[in-house]
Amino acid sequence: MVIRDIREMQDNAADFRAAGKRIAVVPTMGYLHEGHSALIREAKNRADVVITTVFVNPTQFGPGEDFERYPRDLDHDVRIAKNAGAGIVFAPSTDAMYEPHFSSFVLVEKITSVLEGKSRPGHFRGVATVVAKLFHITQPHVAVFGQKDAQQVIVVRRMIRDLNFAVDLVVVPTVREKDGLALSSRNTYLSPQQRQEAVVLYTALSEAQKSIASGTVSSMELVEEMKGMITLHSSGVIDYVSVADAETLEELTALNGHPEILVSLAVRFGQTRLIDNILIERKESNH
Ligand code: AMP
Repeated sequence: MVIRDIREMQDNAADFRAAGKRIAVVPTMGYLHEGHSALIREAKNRADVVITTVFVNPTQFGPGEDFERYPRDLDHDVRIAKNAGAGIVFAPSTDAMYEPHFSSFVLVEKITSVLEGKSRPGHFRGVATVVAKLFHITQPHVAVFGQKDAQQVIVVRRMIRDLNFAVDLVVVPTVREKDGLALSSRNTYLSPQQRQEAVVLYTALSEAQKSIASGTVSSMELVEEMKGMITLHSSGVIDYVSVADAETLEELTALNGHPEILVSLAVRFGQTRLIDNILIERKESNH
Protein backbone atom coordinates (compact mmCIF):
# COMPACT_ATOMS: atom_id res chain seq x y z
CA MET A 1 0.00 0.00 0.00
CA VAL A 2 1.30 3.45 -0.91
CA ILE A 3 0.30 6.32 1.38
CA ARG A 4 0.99 9.89 0.31
CA ASP A 5 -1.06 11.82 2.85
CA ILE A 6 0.53 12.63 6.23
CA ARG A 7 -2.70 12.48 8.23
CA GLU A 8 -3.67 9.17 6.63
CA MET A 9 -0.26 7.74 7.58
CA GLN A 10 -0.67 8.96 11.15
CA ASP A 11 -4.16 7.46 11.41
CA ASN A 12 -2.93 4.13 10.04
CA ALA A 13 -0.02 4.10 12.50
CA ALA A 14 -2.41 4.83 15.38
CA ASP A 15 -4.65 1.94 14.27
CA PHE A 16 -1.68 -0.46 14.13
CA ARG A 17 -0.65 0.57 17.62
CA ALA A 18 -4.18 0.22 18.95
CA ALA A 19 -4.26 -3.30 17.50
CA GLY A 20 -1.04 -4.12 19.40
CA LYS A 21 1.14 -4.28 16.28
CA ARG A 22 4.83 -3.41 16.37
CA ILE A 23 5.83 -0.82 13.78
CA ALA A 24 9.25 -0.50 12.12
CA VAL A 25 10.21 2.43 9.92
CA VAL A 26 12.94 2.47 7.27
CA PRO A 27 13.58 6.06 6.16
CA THR A 28 15.01 6.39 2.63
CA MET A 29 15.32 8.87 -0.20
CA GLY A 30 14.16 6.22 -2.65
CA TYR A 31 15.77 4.77 -5.77
CA LEU A 32 15.95 1.63 -3.66
CA HIS A 33 18.69 -0.96 -4.03
CA GLU A 34 19.84 -4.11 -2.26
CA GLY A 35 21.20 -2.02 0.65
CA HIS A 36 17.72 -0.65 1.34
CA SER A 37 16.26 -4.17 0.93
CA ALA A 38 18.59 -5.43 3.66
CA LEU A 39 17.24 -2.72 5.98
CA ILE A 40 13.64 -3.60 5.14
CA ARG A 41 14.25 -7.32 5.72
CA GLU A 42 15.84 -6.55 9.08
CA ALA A 43 12.84 -4.34 9.93
CA LYS A 44 10.49 -7.18 8.99
CA ASN A 45 12.32 -9.47 11.44
CA ARG A 46 11.71 -7.01 14.22
CA ALA A 47 8.17 -5.79 13.68
CA ASP A 48 4.70 -6.69 12.44
CA VAL A 49 4.36 -3.73 10.12
CA VAL A 50 7.20 -2.21 8.08
CA ILE A 51 6.83 1.31 6.75
CA THR A 52 9.41 2.37 4.16
CA THR A 53 9.45 6.10 3.70
CA VAL A 54 10.50 7.50 0.33
CA PHE A 55 11.22 11.22 0.47
CA VAL A 56 14.01 13.21 -1.14
CA ASN A 57 14.40 15.69 1.67
CA PRO A 58 15.28 19.17 0.37
CA THR A 59 16.45 20.52 3.75
CA GLN A 60 19.39 18.10 3.90
CA PHE A 61 20.80 19.25 0.55
CA GLY A 62 23.00 22.33 0.36
CA PRO A 63 22.91 24.92 -2.41
CA GLY A 64 24.59 23.49 -5.50
CA GLU A 65 24.13 19.89 -4.34
CA ASP A 66 22.19 17.24 -6.27
CA PHE A 67 18.64 17.69 -4.91
CA GLU A 68 17.15 18.40 -8.35
CA ARG A 69 18.90 15.58 -10.15
CA TYR A 70 18.70 12.99 -7.34
CA PRO A 71 17.28 9.84 -9.03
CA ARG A 72 13.58 9.16 -8.44
CA ASP A 73 11.40 6.18 -9.45
CA LEU A 74 8.49 5.50 -7.10
CA ASP A 75 7.07 2.51 -9.05
CA HIS A 76 10.45 0.78 -8.85
CA ASP A 77 10.69 1.65 -5.13
CA VAL A 78 7.26 0.22 -4.36
CA ARG A 79 8.20 -3.06 -6.06
CA ILE A 80 11.53 -3.37 -4.22
CA ALA A 81 10.04 -2.39 -0.86
CA LYS A 82 7.19 -4.87 -1.23
CA ASN A 83 9.52 -7.71 -2.25
CA ALA A 84 11.70 -7.06 0.80
CA GLY A 85 8.71 -7.16 3.15
CA ALA A 86 7.42 -3.61 3.54
CA GLY A 87 3.64 -3.42 3.87
CA ILE A 88 3.51 0.33 3.45
CA VAL A 89 5.44 2.84 1.39
CA PHE A 90 4.97 6.36 2.74
CA ALA A 91 5.83 8.90 0.03
CA PRO A 92 4.70 12.39 1.00
CA SER A 93 5.00 15.44 -1.24
CA THR A 94 7.60 18.11 -0.51
CA ASP A 95 4.86 20.71 -0.09
CA ALA A 96 3.07 18.63 2.52
CA MET A 97 6.27 17.98 4.50
CA TYR A 98 7.35 21.62 4.30
CA GLU A 99 4.46 24.07 4.42
CA PRO A 100 5.10 27.60 3.14
CA HIS A 101 5.94 29.06 6.58
CA PHE A 102 7.81 26.05 7.90
CA SER A 103 10.18 27.27 10.66
CA SER A 104 10.94 24.46 13.12
CA PHE A 105 14.20 22.53 12.94
CA VAL A 106 16.01 19.99 15.07
CA LEU A 107 19.63 20.91 15.74
CA VAL A 108 22.00 18.24 17.05
CA GLU A 109 25.17 20.04 18.12
CA LYS A 110 28.88 19.15 18.33
CA ILE A 111 28.96 15.79 16.50
CA THR A 112 27.45 17.51 13.45
CA SER A 113 30.30 20.01 13.08
CA VAL A 114 32.80 17.46 11.72
CA LEU A 115 33.10 15.13 8.69
CA GLU A 116 29.87 15.24 6.63
CA GLY A 117 28.57 18.10 8.74
CA LYS A 118 31.67 20.16 8.04
CA SER A 119 31.64 19.45 4.29
CA ARG A 120 27.87 19.87 4.04
CA PRO A 121 26.78 22.69 6.37
CA GLY A 122 23.15 22.30 7.40
CA HIS A 123 22.97 18.69 6.20
CA PHE A 124 22.33 17.16 9.61
CA ARG A 125 19.86 19.87 10.58
CA GLY A 126 17.84 18.64 7.61
CA VAL A 127 18.38 14.98 8.47
CA ALA A 128 17.45 15.35 12.16
CA THR A 129 14.40 17.44 11.29
CA VAL A 130 13.03 15.04 8.71
CA VAL A 131 13.72 11.97 10.84
CA ALA A 132 11.91 13.59 13.79
CA LYS A 133 8.97 14.39 11.52
CA LEU A 134 8.92 10.86 10.09
CA PHE A 135 8.96 9.43 13.64
CA HIS A 136 5.96 11.59 14.57
CA ILE A 137 4.14 10.56 11.42
CA THR A 138 4.85 6.80 11.41
CA GLN A 139 4.93 6.22 15.20
CA PRO A 140 7.56 3.46 15.04
CA HIS A 141 8.75 1.15 17.81
CA VAL A 142 11.89 0.46 15.78
CA ALA A 143 13.82 2.48 13.18
CA VAL A 144 16.34 0.83 10.87
CA PHE A 145 19.32 2.71 9.43
CA GLY A 146 22.43 1.68 7.46
CA GLN A 147 26.04 1.78 8.67
CA LYS A 148 26.82 3.22 5.21
CA ASP A 149 25.90 6.62 6.67
CA ALA A 150 27.86 6.21 9.87
CA GLN A 151 27.61 9.80 11.11
CA GLN A 152 23.88 9.84 10.38
CA VAL A 153 23.47 6.86 12.72
CA ILE A 154 25.40 8.67 15.45
CA VAL A 155 23.35 11.85 15.00
CA VAL A 156 20.01 10.04 14.98
CA ARG A 157 21.02 8.01 18.07
CA ARG A 158 21.90 11.27 19.88
CA MET A 159 18.59 12.86 18.85
CA ILE A 160 16.58 9.83 19.99
CA ARG A 161 18.23 10.00 23.42
CA ASP A 162 18.17 13.78 23.79
CA LEU A 163 14.55 14.22 22.70
CA ASN A 164 13.25 11.01 24.34
CA PHE A 165 11.83 9.34 21.28
CA ALA A 166 10.56 5.91 22.32
CA VAL A 167 12.23 4.31 19.31
CA ASP A 168 14.83 1.52 19.18
CA LEU A 169 17.57 2.19 16.65
CA VAL A 170 18.81 -0.77 14.62
CA VAL A 171 21.89 -0.49 12.40
CA VAL A 172 22.48 -2.77 9.40
CA PRO A 173 26.01 -3.36 8.00
CA THR A 174 26.89 -1.79 4.65
CA VAL A 175 25.85 -3.85 1.63
CA ARG A 176 28.51 -3.88 -1.10
CA GLU A 177 28.95 -4.86 -4.72
CA LYS A 178 31.11 -7.95 -5.33
CA ASP A 179 34.15 -5.73 -5.86
CA GLY A 180 33.56 -3.90 -2.57
CA LEU A 181 31.92 -0.66 -3.69
CA ALA A 182 29.18 0.29 -1.23
CA LEU A 183 25.76 0.32 -2.88
CA SER A 184 24.41 3.85 -3.24
CA SER A 185 21.68 5.52 -5.24
CA ARG A 186 24.39 7.98 -6.32
CA ASN A 187 26.46 5.22 -8.00
CA THR A 188 24.14 5.64 -11.01
CA TYR A 189 25.82 9.00 -11.69
CA LEU A 190 29.24 7.36 -12.23
CA SER A 191 30.73 6.87 -15.70
CA PRO A 192 32.04 3.31 -16.35
CA GLN A 193 35.59 4.57 -15.77
CA GLN A 194 34.63 6.30 -12.48
CA ARG A 195 32.70 3.22 -11.40
CA GLN A 196 35.86 1.10 -11.81
CA GLU A 197 38.02 3.62 -10.01
CA ALA A 198 35.59 3.97 -7.12
CA VAL A 199 36.53 0.47 -5.91
CA VAL A 200 39.64 2.06 -4.42
CA LEU A 201 37.53 3.54 -1.61
CA TYR A 202 36.80 0.15 -0.11
CA THR A 203 40.31 -1.11 -0.90
CA ALA A 204 41.77 1.82 1.04
CA LEU A 205 39.43 1.22 3.99
CA SER A 206 40.28 -2.50 4.02
CA GLU A 207 44.00 -1.75 3.91
CA ALA A 208 43.57 0.59 6.88
CA GLN A 209 41.78 -2.17 8.75
CA LYS A 210 44.64 -4.57 8.01
CA SER A 211 47.23 -2.03 9.12
CA ILE A 212 45.42 -1.54 12.41
CA ALA A 213 45.13 -5.30 12.91
CA SER A 214 48.85 -5.69 12.32
CA GLY A 215 49.75 -3.05 14.88
CA THR A 216 49.71 0.42 13.32
CA VAL A 217 48.76 2.90 16.01
CA SER A 218 49.40 6.20 14.25
CA SER A 219 46.34 7.59 12.55
CA MET A 220 48.47 10.00 10.52
CA GLU A 221 50.19 7.05 8.91
CA LEU A 222 46.82 5.46 8.15
CA VAL A 223 45.39 8.62 6.63
CA GLU A 224 48.48 9.15 4.46
CA GLU A 225 48.37 5.52 3.32
CA MET A 226 44.72 5.80 2.31
CA LYS A 227 45.11 9.17 0.61
CA GLY A 228 48.10 7.81 -1.31
CA MET A 229 46.16 4.80 -2.57
CA ILE A 230 43.14 6.83 -3.63
CA THR A 231 45.26 9.39 -5.48
CA LEU A 232 47.37 6.73 -7.16
CA HIS A 233 44.52 4.53 -8.35
CA SER A 234 41.80 7.02 -9.24
CA SER A 235 40.95 10.46 -10.49
CA GLY A 236 38.89 10.99 -7.31
CA VAL A 237 39.30 14.27 -5.45
CA ILE A 238 39.53 13.65 -1.72
CA ASP A 239 37.16 15.65 0.46
CA TYR A 240 38.27 14.01 3.72
CA VAL A 241 39.84 10.85 5.07
CA SER A 242 39.28 10.50 8.78
CA VAL A 243 40.25 8.25 11.67
CA ALA A 244 38.01 9.14 14.58
CA ASP A 245 36.65 7.81 17.84
CA ALA A 246 33.42 6.06 16.81
CA GLU A 247 31.37 7.58 19.61
CA THR A 248 32.57 11.18 19.90
CA LEU A 249 33.88 11.52 16.31
CA GLU A 250 36.94 13.19 17.79
CA GLU A 251 39.77 13.00 15.22
CA LEU A 252 42.52 10.74 16.56
CA THR A 253 46.27 11.00 16.51
CA ALA A 254 46.96 7.79 18.42
CA LEU A 255 44.57 4.83 18.40
CA ASN A 256 45.33 3.55 21.87
CA GLY A 257 42.52 3.93 24.38
CA HIS A 258 39.76 3.95 21.77
CA PRO A 259 37.76 0.71 21.67
CA GLU A 260 35.84 1.58 18.49
CA ILE A 261 37.34 3.53 15.64
CA LEU A 262 35.48 4.93 12.65
CA VAL A 263 37.59 5.16 9.52
CA SER A 264 35.62 7.18 7.00
CA LEU A 265 36.09 9.07 3.77
CA ALA A 266 34.38 11.22 1.17
CA VAL A 267 35.71 11.44 -2.37
CA ARG A 268 34.43 13.27 -5.43
CA PHE A 269 34.37 11.60 -8.83
CA GLY A 270 33.48 14.49 -11.13
CA GLN A 271 30.20 15.84 -9.77
CA THR A 272 29.52 12.70 -7.75
CA ARG A 273 30.44 12.64 -4.09
CA LEU A 274 30.79 9.17 -2.58
CA ILE A 275 31.15 8.28 1.10
CA ASP A 276 32.16 5.06 2.78
CA ASN A 277 33.43 3.89 6.15
CA ILE A 278 34.51 0.96 8.20
CA LEU A 279 33.99 0.49 11.91
CA ILE A 280 36.93 -1.14 13.68
CA GLU A 281 36.83 -2.71 17.10
CA ARG A 282 40.19 -2.77 18.79
CA LYS A 283 41.26 -5.42 21.21
CA GLU A 284 43.67 -3.36 23.28
CA SER A 285 45.27 -6.40 24.90
CA ASN A 286 46.86 -7.35 21.55
CA HIS A 287 48.85 -4.14 21.40
P1 AMP B 1 19.34 6.85 1.41
O1 AMP B 1 18.17 6.46 0.59
O2 AMP B 1 20.63 6.82 0.65
O3 AMP B 1 19.13 8.11 2.19
O4 AMP B 1 19.51 5.72 2.49
C1 AMP B 1 18.45 5.29 3.29
C2 AMP B 1 18.97 4.32 4.31
O5 AMP B 1 19.59 3.22 3.66
C3 AMP B 1 20.04 4.93 5.23
O6 AMP B 1 19.85 4.44 6.54
C4 AMP B 1 21.31 4.42 4.62
O7 AMP B 1 22.38 4.32 5.54
C5 AMP B 1 20.90 3.05 4.14
N1 AMP B 1 21.79 2.57 3.09
C6 AMP B 1 22.08 3.20 1.92
N2 AMP B 1 22.99 2.47 1.23
C7 AMP B 1 23.26 1.37 1.98
C8 AMP B 1 24.12 0.24 1.81
N3 AMP B 1 24.89 0.08 0.75
N4 AMP B 1 24.12 -0.70 2.78
C9 AMP B 1 23.35 -0.56 3.89
N5 AMP B 1 22.52 0.48 4.10
C10 AMP B 1 22.48 1.43 3.16
